[in-house]
Amino acid sequence: MVIDRSQPGTEASWAGGGILCPLYAWRYPEAVMALATHGMREYPALLESLDTPTDAERQVTGMQILDPVGPGESAKGVGEWLDRFGMRHEWLSGGDFPELLLPDVANVRNPRLLLALSEAAESEGITIHAHCAADRLRLDGNRVTGVITTEGAWAADQVVIAAGAWSEALTPDARRGSVFPVRGQMLRLEPRQENRLERILMEAGTYLIPRRDGSVVIGSTVEYAGFDKHIDSTAQAALHATACRLWPSLTGAAITHRWAGLRPGSADEIPILGAHPHIEGLWLNTGGFRNGLAMAPASASLLSDLMHGRSPALDPTPYRVGRILSD
Ligand SMILES: Cc1cc2nc3c(=O)[nH]c(=O)nc-3n(C[C@H](O)[C@H](O)[C@H](O)COP(=O)(O)OP(=O)(O)OC[C@H]3O[C@@H](n4cnc5c(N)ncnc54)[C@H](O)[C@@H]3O)c2cc1C
Repeated sequence: MVIDRSQPGTEASWAGGGILCPLYAWRYPEAVMALATHGMREYPALLESLDTPTDAERQVTGMQILDPVGPGESAKGVGEWLDRFGMRHEWLSGGDFPELLLPDVANVRNPRLLLALSEAAESEGITIHAHCAADRLRLDGNRVTGVITTEGAWAADQVVIAAGAWSEALTPDARRGSVFPVRGQMLRLEPRQENRLERILMEAGTYLIPRRDGSVVIGSTVEYAGFDKHIDSTAQAALHATACRLWPSLTGAAITHRWAGLRPGSADEIPILGAHPHIEGLWLNTGGFRNGLAMAPASASLLSDLMHGRSPALDPTPYRVGRILSD
């Protein structure tokens, strides 16, 4: 059973760019890369298994990074890191600085992926209670027995907290600030068929993502502004200007949508995944921060293995819940 305060799949997972690879992957902890590389490989089979009318529109476009080598980094070091995780890459010459092409990077269209997942869940017999907010857990000593919601109490002997940026308030003993919202603003330009952008392009953290219909999604800001999905015109104008500079034929394309979402941040940028050490039956899957979508299939597999007492494919230690609890 899924309990969601709003319509499931309308928060960060809806708002994101849907790039199935960390941006500047070599700047992330290995624990993030481990989940992301497994997740990226699991997507095709996962999507194939969803027997639903909605298509998530996954497409392998590759990602071209115009400024891959940052201060204190070298092309050699970046290449070695990518090799370690089995990520094919190619250096492109031409300009004054090396550019990097990751040819296997794919993206999905978030709202469609989320719709397809909801459809698949319902057709598998999973009940989705939309517009039903979890207020707090029902506990019997150190064991979870259910969830108290705005629609009444539900009994359950296993509960997973996967409430994104809002997870901390539901987690007993979580330190303040252990999971927090990080706003990202995005915009989308109308579909155009001439001089189509074929690859994801990225420079200085701003990325342009081509969708199948010829539209382009541009992101994103990284703002520590609390639970506030406000869109501001300065940030939007900066994203738009960068996009038109990187791909000039976008100039003049109409902006069809602007939005913001709240990523679930964690202090060490590593997801929080596993059993609550003090409460039997309680589990967490949150803190996906900037890569929650790319990591999702692997995060879900890891949690499912732990919940079923199977030995997981990845070492769960870096993700343990205990690290966000007060002493
Ligand atoms: C602008 C932006 C761009 C991004 N780009 C990418 C990208 O390209 N690639 C990538 O991999 N990741 C990206 N991300 C990150 C990724 O989207 C997130 O890490 C991921 O979606 C988090 O998923 P989640 O399920 O934990 O949180 P969410 O998708 O936010 O879901 C949390 C759910 O919990 C529900 N909820 C909250 N409180 C309660 C409650 N009390 N009771 C019941 N339900 C509750 C909410 O309604 C919501 O449905 C991006 C994020 C943003 C915002």
